[in-house]
Amino acid sequence: MPTVSEALELMDYGPAPESTAAAMDWLKGRTFGHFINGKLTKAGETFATVSPATGTELAQITQGTEADVAAAVKAARKAAPGWAALSGHDRARHLYALARLMQKRERLFAVLESLDNGKPIRESRDIDVPLAVRHFYHHAGWAELVADDFPGMRPHGVCGQIIPWNFPLLMLAWKVAPALAAGNTVVVKPAEQTPLTALLFAELCIEAGLPRGVVNIVTGDGRTGAALVAAEVDKIAFTGSTEIGRLIRRATAGSAKALTLELGGKSPFIVFAEADLDAAVEGVVDAIWFNQGEVCCAGSRILVQESVADRFVTRLKARMNTLRLGDPLDKSTDIGAVVDEVQLTRIRGIVDQAVAQGAVLHQAPIPNGPGSFCPPGLLTDLGAANIAMTEEIFGPIVSLITFRTPGEAVELANNTRYGLAASIWTENITAALDIAAQVKAGVVWINGTNIFDANAPFGGMRESGFGREGAREGMLAYLTRDEATGPLRKPAAAPSPAPAGASGDAIDRTRKLYIGGAQKRPDGGASYAVKGAQVPLGSRKDIRNAVEAAHKAGGWSKVTGHNRAQVLYFLAENLAAHPIGDAEEHALAVQRAFYWAAWADKYDGRVHATQSAHVTLALKEPFGVMGIVAPEEAPLLGLVSTVFPAIAMGNRVVVVPSQANPVPALDLYQVLDTSDVPGGVVNIVTGPRGELADTLAKHDDVAALWCFADPETCRNAEIQSAGNLKPVWTETRERDWHGPAGQSREFLRRAVQVKTVWVPYGA
Ligand code: ADP
Repeated sequence: MPTVSEALELMDYGPAPESTAAAMDWLKGRTFGHFINGKLTKAGETFATVSPATGTELAQITQGTEADVAAAVKAARKAAPGWAALSGHDRARHLYALARLMQKRERLFAVLESLDNGKPIRESRDIDVPLAVRHFYHHAGWAELVADDFPGMRPHGVCGQIIPWNFPLLMLAWKVAPALAAGNTVVVKPAEQTPLTALLFAELCIEAGLPRGVVNIVTGDGRTGAALVAAEVDKIAFTGSTEIGRLIRRATAGSAKALTLELGGKSPFIVFAEADLDAAVEGVVDAIWFNQGEVCCAGSRILVQESVADRFVTRLKARMNTLRLGDPLDKSTDIGAVVDEVQLTRIRGIVDQAVAQGAVLHQAPIPNGPGSFCPPGLLTDLGAANIAMTEEIFGPIVSLITFRTPGEAVELANNTRYGLAASIWTENITAALDIAAQVKAGVVWINGTNIFDANAPFGGMRESGFGREGAREGMLAYLTRDEATGPLRKPAAAPSPAPAGASGDAIDRTRKLYIGGAQKRPDGGASYAVKGAQVPLGSRKDIRNAVEAAHKAGGWSKVTGHNRAQVLYFLAENLAAHPIGDAEEHALAVQRAFYWAAWADKYDGRVHATQSAHVTLALKEPFGVMGIVAPEEAPLLGLVSTVFPAIAMGNRVVVVPSQANPVPALDLYQVLDTSDVPGGVVNIVTGPRGELADTLAKHDDVAALWCFADPETCRNAEIQSAGNLKPVWTETRERDWHGPAGQSREFLRRAVQVKTVWVPYGA
C-alpha cells in the first residue's frame, strides 16, 4: 500500500478488482455439454476455455459433433411449429422473461464475459450486457407486434446462428432475440474461445420456462460451425471473418437456405480540420483502444486532414500513454487481454509486416508476465498500399494517414473492399452529412463511434456482408414471404447459333443488344434464331461492356426521386404507345411501369428512436449497378416488373432477358430511346443465360444480383458471388407476374441497402 504522500505523487489509481467469486462458484471447474431440447447434455470430447489474461483454465467445453448438431436441429425442428403458432403476445412474454432474468444476472454475465474474453469489466458491465438485455426487451416488443407490422410474412423455421468471440453475449442477443420474436427456433454455435456466457444463457432458458427445443446451443470450433451450415436448417446467420463468410456463401449456394453475413471491416475514422480534436482523440480511445480493437466496425484507419495532423498525432500519443493495460477484472483497466495467443500472433504479424513496409510504430511497452496482452499502438508514415491500411488487424493498433481535401478523404475512405462502418469528425454538420452520403458503409457515426442500439439497423456493404441486424430491418431478416409458388423454373436450352452462312448481311437485320443507350452488335457478331427472328448472342464480354456503361451512368443514383419518377412516367407513357409482344401482357406491363414510377419518390427511409440526443437515420440507398436475370416466363411483364423497381430506387441495371423469347425485351430499345432515361441506366444483353448470369455474379462492379432462373443457374450465381459477397436474390419457382406477387414490396426492399447515420446533437 503506498502512503498518502506517495499516492499524491503518483496520482495513479489503486487496484479496484471486481469479485470473481460468483462466477468461479458457477464454473466450479465444470465440464460442459451442449444445450439441446431444453436440457444440458452430458459432455463429449472436450477442450479447455482459458482466461486470456492469466492463461488459466476456466472450464472444459464439448466439441460438438455432426451428431450433436443434428440432434439440436431435430429438436429445433420439432419445436418450430408450436413456437410459430403461439400468439405474438405469448412469445413476447417468453422474451420478456429472458430479458428480466438476464438483467437479474447482469453482474455474473459481465464477469464471465471478461474472464472468458479478456475484455475489461467496464466494457462488459457497461456496454455488452446492458445492450444484450436491451435487445431482449426490444424484441419482446417485436414479438407482440409482428403479426400487425409484417402481414403476409412467416418465420423461416429453424435458424443456425454462428457467433464470433469479440462480443459473445451481445452477438447471441442480436441473433437469438429477433429470431425468436419472429417465430423461428434456433441452434446457436458460440465461438470456441468464448462459450461461457452462452452456456449461462442456456440455464436462463430453462429457468424462464422456454418451451423445449426453441433455443439450442452447441459448442465447438469451426468444424461444429461447418456442420451447422450443412445441417437441415432454413437460415444461417453468421458473424465472423470475411474468409469464413465466403466459405459459408459457397456452402449454402443452391440450398434455398436464407443467409445473412456480418463480416469484417476496415472502417475509416475521418478527422477534419474543423473537428473538436480532443473529442476525436477520445473517439479513437473508445473505438479502438478501449476494446482491444475487437469491434469489427472499429475505425481502424484514421484519416486526418493534413493541417491538423501534427496536433492530432501529438494529442493521440499523449493520450495513448495514459491508457491502463492489465487485469480485465480491474474496474480501472482500459485495455484488457487479447482473446488468445493465436490472435495476438496475428496482430503482431501484421504490425511487423507494416513496419517492414515502412510504417513507424508508436507503442507503449509490452508488459512482462503471463497472459496475452497487446499494448495500444499507432502506426504512422503509411502508404495507401501498406498492409495496415488494407487488412483487418483486430487489435488495439490504429493506422493513420493524412488527406488534404474532402474529396480525397472520401476516396481514401472508400479505398477498401469492406464497407461496414465509418466515423466522421467535424463541427461542420453540412460537410459531415455530405461525407456520410458518400462513404460506402452500412453505419456512419458523426462525431461519435461504436454507438449501437437494438432499434438501429447494423450491417455492412460490399465485402463486409449483407443483411441488417436490429430494428425493423433486422426483423425482416428473420421473416419470409411465400410469393413464388409456381413450378420450378426449367433451364433454358442452349441457344443454337445462326448457321455460318447467315453472317454479315443477315446479322445487320437482326436485333441488337442495348448498351450505354445505344444499339450494339454483340462482341463477335454472333446471333441465334428464335421464333423466326435473329437475336444477338451476347457473351461475357458484352456483359462487361454493359456493366461499364452502367457504371458510367452514376448520375442516375444521385438525382431526386421526383426526377426519377418523371423520367419513369414518361417511359411508361412511351411504353403505352409502343405495342410490344402479347397485347394483354403489354397492357399489364404499362400499368406496372406506372406503378413503379409512382414509388420512385416514396420509399422512404426512417428516423429511429434510439438513444437520447441522437438522430438515427436509416437511409435507403441504391446499390449502384445491379444485375437482373429476368424470368423466362412473362418476357415483357417479368422484365418490366423487375427492372422498373430497381431503377426507380436509383440503380442502374444490366438485364438478361428471357432466352426463349427475348424479342419483346430487345424491342424495348425503341421505348428507351424515345424517353429520357439516361444511357447506361438500362442495359439489355441477350444470350445464354447461365453464362451471362455467371459473369454478373462474378463481376466486382455489380453490387447486387437478382436471379429469376432455374435451380442450377441460381446455385452457380450464389457460388460465384462469394468473391465480392454481393447479395444475390435467387428465385427458382415461377412467380405469378400477372397477380399481386408481380408488384410486391419485396422488389423495393431488395433494390436498396440501408445506411444508418447517427447524428448527435446538443448545444
Ligand atoms: P474470427 O476471426 O473472428 O475468429 P471466424 O470467422 O474464424 O472469425 O469465426 C467466427 C465463428 O465462425 C466462430 O464461431 C467459428 O467457430 C466459426 N467458424 C469457423 N470456421 C467455420 C466454418 N468453416 N463454418 C462455419 N463456422 C465456422
